[in-house]
Amino acid sequence: MFENLTSRLTRVLDSIRGQGRLTEEQISAAARELRMALLEADVALPVIKDFIDKVKARALGVEITQSLTPGQAFLRIVQQELTTTLGGTAEPINLRAQPPAVILMAGLQGSGKTTTTGKLARKLKTEDKKNVIVVSADVYRPAAIEQLRIVAGQVGVEWFPSAVGESPVAIATAALAHARKQYADVLIVDTAGRTTVDQEMMAEIAQLHAAVNPVETLFVVDSMTGQDAAKTARAFADAVPLTGVVLTKIDGDSRGGAALSVRHVTGKPIKFLGVGEKSDKLEVFHPDRIANRIIG
Ligand code: GDP
Repeated sequence: MFENLTSRLTRVLDSIRGQGRLTEEQISAAARELRMALLEADVALPVIKDFIDKVKARALGVEITQSLTPGQAFLRIVQQELTTTLGGTAEPINLRAQPPAVILMAGLQGSGKTTTTGKLARKLKTEDKKNVIVVSADVYRPAAIEQLRIVAGQVGVEWFPSAVGESPVAIATAALAHARKQYADVLIVDTAGRTTVDQEMMAEIAQLHAAVNPVETLFVVDSMTGQDAAKTARAFADAVPLTGVVLTKIDGDSRGGAALSVRHVTGKPIKFLGVGEKSDKLEVFHPDRIANRIIG
């Protein structure tokens, strides 16, 4: 991830030579390189503009200390602004609810919802010692329900049965009642996804949300969709109050623009990164560490 952005930023550093204060020309030239780097990374335009404005404003006022070259000073500002744009500090998953804490998974088909449901269930079970139940409310695709059953078996959590033809709300309500009876700590509700955003899907997810009152509503999105990820995120955020984002397929994404766009556009924290297909490939999102990775 971010390989291209990182190599571009190395060129930004190279473009700022010499000692002493950063000159206006140096800052403008570096900002141009930075803009190109962000465009190539497929970051949304308003995000780029805002980001560059902030970096420039700070770079103009910066005092260069003895230990830093102007190039290093500029990159440090970029690093700090990247961290801020990515959300500042890590926001852990919130389970502060009367158990069972309900987690609703939302997103387009193929974004990685079911895979992430399994990964999250595994993480909560193994690391947080939670008793987790999962259920699929995807009543349109029997294969999706079966996929979750298999994933649940692989990570060793309970799968609550559901079937095509039932209503998603009825499934989720029954699963919640069951989870209560079992004194489960967490119920994760996987939902149906379509290939594009449509009214019906949005109405359905809103109904599900109202029925199970989740403490976390996580929007799962494929990072390789670049700035489209932010557009989809906004459409979902308009339908349900999202509490966080999971960016998947980071392992196949060399551009890395989605992270910057999604956070900026939705204002919602990125909570996890999907970094592979296997059930242990889920990382907690740390804005500062990702910013450091981008800087290279
Ligand atoms: P859903 O339709 O949203 O439930 O998507 P799935 O969970 O079925 O995932 C769609 C495809 O993406 C599957 O082939 C997954 O193995 C794959 N996938 C999901 N997350 C990741 C990830 O973080 N990295 C990689 N490389 N593949 C992933």
